[in-house]
This record gives sequence, C-alpha cells and structure tokens, in this order.
Amino acid sequence: MAKSTTDLFCDFCGKDRAHVEKLIAGANVNICNECVKLCDQILGDQKEKPREESKLQDLDPHKIREHLDQHVIGQDHAKMVISVAVAEHYKRVYKPPKNLELEKSNVLLVGPTGTGKTLLAKTIARYLDVPFTIADATTLTEAGYVGDDVESVIAKLLDKSDYDVTRAQQGIIFLDEVDKIARKSENVSITRDVSGEGVQQALLKLIEGTIVRVPPQGGRKHPNAEMIEVDTTNILFICSGTFIGIEDILKNKSDHTSIGFQSRLKKLTIASELYEKLDQNDLTKFGLIPEFIGRLSTIGILNELTQDELVRIISEPKHSIEKQYQWSFKIDGIELKLPIDAKKAIAIKAEKLGTFARGLRQIIEKVLLPWQYNAKQLVAEGVTELVIRPETIDKGTDPVIIREDSTKTNRRKVEN
Ligand code: ADP
Repeated sequence: MAKSTTDLFCDFCGKDRAHVEKLIAGANVNICNECVKLCDQILGDQKEKPREESKLQDLDPHKIREHLDQHVIGQDHAKMVISVAVAEHYKRVYKPPKNLELEKSNVLLVGPTGTGKTLLAKTIARYLDVPFTIADATTLTEAGYVGDDVESVIAKLLDKSDYDVTRAQQGIIFLDEVDKIARKSENVSITRDVSGEGVQQALLKLIEGTIVRVPPQGGRKHPNAEMIEVDTTNILFICSGTFIGIEDILKNKSDHTSIGFQSRLKKLTIASELYEKLDQNDLTKFGLIPEFIGRLSTIGILNELTQDELVRIISEPKHSIEKQYQWSFKIDGIELKLPIDAKKAIAIKAEKLGTFARGLRQIIEKVLLPWQYNAKQLVAEGVTELVIRPETIDKGTDPVIIREDSTKTNRRKVEN
C-alpha cells in the first residue's frame, strides 16, 4: 500500500512532511529542504578552507604588493613594509620552527589623514580573504571605566568571522588613532592620565597574544552565558596614527646629533628618509609606552599625497571614484566625462582642504549631486553627456551639457 504524505519524514532531521517546505524522496531515504541547505553549507565550507589556508601558507610579498598597486596609489615604502610584514606573520603562523621562538611582529602605520593607511590594511585583508575589523583606539577604555573595553575589539572580529573562531584567530585588526592614546607628556603622572596609558596597558596583552572570552552572538557579558574563547596570538594588529608633532621630536633629536639636520628635515618628504630617522625612542617621547611600541616592531611611513597622486587616485584604482560615478550616470543613460584639467582642479581643492584623498570624494559628490538628482529629467530632455570643467569644481559653473541633437549637429559638422 502507498504511504500517505503525512507518513513521510526527513531521514536526516526527522521532521515530517507537514513541518518542512519541501521533502525530496530518494529510493529508500527522504531529505528535506533545510537539510539540503545545511549539506550545501558544509560542502561549501570544506571546499573553501583548504584554498584559503594554502594561500596564507605561502605568501609572496611581491604578489601582495602587486595587488596593493591595483587599489592604492603611491605609498611605495608603506606597501613594501606591510607586504613583508604580512608574509612574515603568516609564515610564523603556518610554518613555526621547532627549536626557535619567534616574536610576533605587529605593524604601525604612521602618516597624515586620508593618505591610505586604512585602505592598505583593508586591501590586504581582502587579498588574504581573512576577517578584518577596524577599531578606534580613542573609544576604548581600560576595564572598569565607561566605554568599550579592549576585548570588544575581538568580539567585533569574531562577529565579522560569523562566529567562526578558527577564522577569527587568523584575522586582522586595524586599530586606528593609536597616537591619541599617547600619554599627554613624557613626565605626566599616571594618576592624571588614566585614559591613554591605561588603554595602552590593556592593549598590550591582546596584541602580544592572550585568550579573550567573548560573549556569544554579540550578547552582553552574563555570568551564566557560555563564553567563546579566542586566542589572539595569531591575530595581526595593524595600528595606525597621524602622530602630528612627531617632526618636532625628530627636530629636537637632530639638534643633539647632527649639525644641519634641521634644514635637511624640511626636505624629508620621502617616506624612506623619514623612516630612517624615526625610531622607537621617538615614539616613546611622543607618549607611547615602550612595552606597547615593542610589540609594533614594523613601522610603515605614509607620505602626504602629491597633486599628481591625487589626480591618479580619482581614476586609476580598480574601483576608482571616477569609475563609480561613470557607472551610476551610465545607468541613467548619461556619459560622464572628467577631463584631466577638472581632475587637477579637484586635486588642488582637496590639497587645500588638507584632507588629501579623503576630500576627493566629498568634492566630486558635492558637484555632481544636483546632476544625479536631475539625471532622469536630463535624459528625457535629450542630454547624453556631461563634461565636468575646472570651473564646475572651483565656482560651481555648469558642466558642458551635450544633447542628442547637438551631438548629431557636431557629427554633421565633422562629416562636412
Ligand atoms: P587614512 O590614512 O586616514 O586611514 P584612508 O585609507 O581611510 O585614509 O583613505 C580615505 C579615502 O581616500 C578612502 O576612500 C581611500 O580609498 C582613499 N585613499 C586614501 N589614500 C589613497 C591612496 N594612496 N590610493 C588610493 N586611494 C586612497
């Protein structure tokens, strides 16, 4: 006798037909849609993991650098430093020597705002396909004070890893604004400066490697909740800061060391030159505690971006601002053109604002906003092309507007 549909159930989870969306019947077994999905996830995970890990096990700094070049303009020195640091870090993780203890080397990126510090770290994490999170050091407090304690950074990374502890333990944490947790002055008393130095102390263990207990799924700490343990030993920390004022420390140093260094210092715009001068003592003078600096042994210096580099940033990166806006206007049916003189005007404006690459998008956004707002109407009126002029950037003058018929007229003129 044939089975009634209510007799049918999933042989994997035991749910009956009435409680699942679909039940697929095989020769002797049945499986429900939910179990099919679960199996697919398991197979997917198994397929991805070996590929990912083999990549991390054999990293070539040249290949990392090549990838960075597709997204980050300039910053040759920092690119080289970070490519080597990352390759070395994962070498240590995956091929640890038997009779040799290796020290963990985290990275410190020093450079003005908007020059690519975050972008470098983000791009590397995407290349490596490891979880990545950004934390602002100024929002962290030592345990017992109001604010996020340093462990919250690990909770964030775990969240980014979909609570896969193994993946989180290979991840990268970008800790921004570390210069802002410096001691206010070299001689300041500890009691008056709990925030900065206290946070540095709290971060020490985390950076060096410890077990952090994180509440599951972002829940709050609860005495009875089962905690997830995350080992931070293999998590790479990339710290970053502008370190405004560090030049003064370098200048003072030069007064005691070499005659004529002050005048040379003015010319120290090439990162590698500044890098030669910057050492861990200078960072201590700036207000970072020696133990904290000791865990950031690789220092990458980023330059102020030149006007030419800013122009290149508008169009050259793989996902450049220009490509993004051209795509958006194209969807509406308009070709957007940004000639070189307009790009130069944008770069000059960003330079004046002192926001470097960070300002580029804001400037372009402001200029293009009304045109995006009216794009559909413009197309209905026969507009096919917008050409941004330097005056559009400087004075808000309209771009050159090319219409269907004017293109035809122009074409006819050329043909005649
Ligand atoms: P910061 O140095 O302050 O961390 P970010 O990396 O956050 O700067 O950069 C701010 C913006 O400028 C981002 O949109 C980033 O893509 C862009 N940008 C900054 N520097 C570069 C660079 N060297 N090459 C390409 N884009 C850059």
